[in-house]
Formats: sequence, C-alpha cells, structure tokens
Amino acid sequence: MEDCIFCKIIAGQIPTEFLMETEDLVVFRDINPKAPVHLLIVPKQHIRSINDIQKNHKEVIASLFYIAKEMAAREGIDESGYKLQFHVEKGGGQEVFHLHLHLIGGWKLTTSRT
Ligand code: 5GP
Ligand code: ZN
Repeated sequence: MEDCIFCKIIAGQIPTEFLMETEDLVVFRDINPKAPVHLLIVPKQHIRSINDIQKNHKEVIASLFYIAKEMAAREGIDESGYKLQFHVEKGGGQEVFHLHLHLIGGWKLTTSRT
C-alpha cells in the first residue's frame, strides 16, 4: 500500500527498530508513547482494520495475541499487567489504517496485587 506508513516501516523505507520480527508480523515502539511501555504489534500484510479481517487471517490474528504476551514478558510487565487495544476506524480512535495491536503498560502500581 503506497501511502501506508506502517507498510513503509515494514518495507524498511522508514528506519524503525524492530523489537521482534516473525514471518507474519513486526513489533516496534510507538513514536508517541502513552505509557512507559507502548509497543505496536503489526501484521506484515496490509489489513485496514479489525473490520476487514477474514477467516484466512485467523493465524495472523492469533499470532498478534501470542506475540503480545511474549513481548509483555520480555518488557517485564506481564505480572504487573497491561492493556491490549485495537482502535477501529475513526470513531474508535484509529489514525493509521493498517491493523495493529497496542501493548500498553509499565505504570508504577500503587496497590499490591495480593
Ligand atoms: P491508532 O490510533 O491508529 O491505533 O494508533 C497509531 C499509532 O501509531 C499512534 O499511537 C502513533 O503514535 C503511532 N505512529 C504513527 N506514526 C508512527 C511512526 O512513524 N512510527 C512509530 N513508531 N509509530 C507511529
Ligand atoms: Zn499498510
């Protein structure tokens, strides 16, 4: 997709450090983080939004969640907790129309889990 910023990142046209890359997806830090940890988990395939997922995307969608929990552990926020968010179209806050999962966390907790 010519004008898609995430397709350009995936193609290496915009230098971006990948924290992880698999056959299906890449992970990089959000340029404007909303929390101490804010990663974007992005399928390599251009899919506009959750509205556009098809049955044949099942595997890549499952990978997004699997890699999300792997990255949460790597970033050391799995036990403290985190949010996973999809923004869907303009009303849902989507600004980049290439499907991505936000992994957000790393806040200092003021109460104990136990
Ligand atoms: P959306 O609201 O579409 O779900 O979120 C898109 C996210 O992509 C935003 O949080 C924004 O900060 C991030 N973003 C937009 N452009 C770039 C970029 O060029 N590089 C990186 N690393 N993140 C970006
Ligand atoms: Zn794209």
